Amino acid sequence: MEDKLTIDVTRINPEGETIEGEVGCVDLDEEFVKPFGGVRYRLDAQVFGTELLVRGHLEQDFDLVCSRCGKDFDDTVEVDDYTFSCQIDEHNPEVDLTEDVRESIILTLSTYPVCSERCQGVEQTAEMPADERWGALDGLRVGDAEPKGT
Ligand SMILES: [Zn+2]
Repeated sequence: MEDKLTIDVTRINPEGETIEGEVGCVDLDEEFVKPFGGVRYRLDAQVFGTELLVRGHLEQDFDLVCSRCGKDFDDTVEVDDYTFSCQIDEHNPEVDLTEDVRESIILTLSTYPVCSERCQGVEQTAEMPADERWGALDGLRVGDAEPKGT
């Protein structure tokens, strides 16, 4: 897998062109956030006068740890409306998008990932005021899962 995403503006079709691939550029080394595979990209690149305009879709798979319950889960971070533009330097026609793509993925990554919107976590009772209705629901669930003879 490539570790750089570069576009040579002299080779872009004047009508615009779609570039697709995978670039391994999200090199986070966090205990609770581990990328796997690379950033998959599908981008439309076009040159307008002296400007390069790129827009499209990015996605990266992660191994995450739920901030509520502490379980490992997989998630895909997607950037639907990625855009990049820069002035073209005719002496240096190769534009490097690597760092910008990496930042877009990291900015989209949630600071507090949760395995599910409905995840109840493990410390709910400590954080939330006691509410008998929840207690009743818990009792019901336990009863369903572990039927006990009466
Ligand atoms: Zn969870």
